Amino acid sequence: MGVLLGLDAGELAALLGQGHPGFRAQQLYEALYRTRVTSLDEVTTLPSDLRRQLAADHRIGLPRVERRYDSADGTRRYLLRLDDGRAIEAVFMPEVSRSTFCISTQVGCPVGCHFCMTAALGLERNLTAGEIAGQVLFLLREHGLEPGRDRVNVVMMGQGEPLLNLEAVLKATRLLVDPRGVGISPRRVTLSTVGIVPKIRELGQAAIRPKLAISLHATTDEVRARLIPIARRYPLAELLEACRAYPLRSWERLTFEYLLIRGVNDSDHDARRLASLLGQLRAKVNLIPLNPGPGIPYQPPDPERILAFQARVRRVLPCFIRKPRGQDVFAACGQLRRMALDEAAQACGAISTLARRSVNRTMPE
Ligand code: SAH
Ligand code: SF4
Repeated sequence: MGVLLGLDAGELAALLGQGHPGFRAQQLYEALYRTRVTSLDEVTTLPSDLRRQLAADHRIGLPRVERRYDSADGTRRYLLRLDDGRAIEAVFMPEVSRSTFCISTQVGCPVGCHFCMTAALGLERNLTAGEIAGQVLFLLREHGLEPGRDRVNVVMMGQGEPLLNLEAVLKATRLLVDPRGVGISPRRVTLSTVGIVPKIRELGQAAIRPKLAISLHATTDEVRARLIPIARRYPLAELLEACRAYPLRSWERLTFEYLLIRGVNDSDHDARRLASLLGQLRAKVNLIPLNPGPGIPYQPPDPERILAFQARVRRVLPCFIRKPRGQDVFAACGQLRRMALDEAAQACGAISTLARRSVNRTMPE
């Protein structure tokens, strides 16, 4: 069975073959990405025999909802089941005038950051372009949103390291921002990387690409390598050089994410060093108070420390505190997936709390 999601207009034309007029592929493309059908029966622009023929050996390939967790703040966290039975997470975060979708780019992650629950999963596999874009299509439909009318932001900050699956991430981005298809503004798609330097350079060469956010998290190589083992391979000086050389578009600036961890990287010295490292770049800083969780050996700083840190950085460049979202449904990266695994293994405590909060279970297939 072939999967249609992830194919671009040219690939759909090749799939239909010579026997059909060229506009049929375009109709199929629009049905998949603009109308966002969930079944080939809904593609009424195509003749019924062509629909039947396609359905005989192809399916659309949207993810299925396995679990949904609703936070008191409106955040909805989905555990989505892929074709091969593996599970990923996608999160919907509504705000007054816009919605943000946080999507995954890999099943698990190979990087191994000590503060991140996804790390414990290891890498199971890369997602395909269709599976990456499919999360967005699913969330648009589930929440009745229309990119032409509603402000929708997509952040690749769920499971996985996007730059270790760059080809699929770029193809998914092209599909998501195509005005003839999904139609999300290219200014509203962002990827976050742990800082894979050669891949940052490669990303900069792509004509259509997401905005770049970098998980910095520390101001010295020593502390950074303690939190992010892979950082030993890419020292701060090299990472920041790649950032300086990065070809920003006229409307673009870099985002640096800085996780605040009590007693590890939250001192005034850190704040001053952060400001001086980034001061020369067209950049902003997002401070993320650590989201604690089972198995994470760190805590967030007190609110006063967070504000003091922000005040110091702000003297030099724009600096925001990322509002924690969905903490009551374990919002930190990778947590939901871990919970589901633990639950399957009959684990206890927080997990049964989560199970009680689970409001929607789809029928097993
Ligand atoms: N692999 C990429 C993108 C996915 S992680 C990256 O590391 O940037 C997305 C963001 O979630 C990263 O900034 C990461 O540092 C952050 N994150 C991971 N674990 C977290 C936790 N326990 N609390 C808060 N943020 C966390
Ligand atoms: Fe992977 Fe990002 Fe988690 Fe690090 S923080 S383990 S790179 S998902």
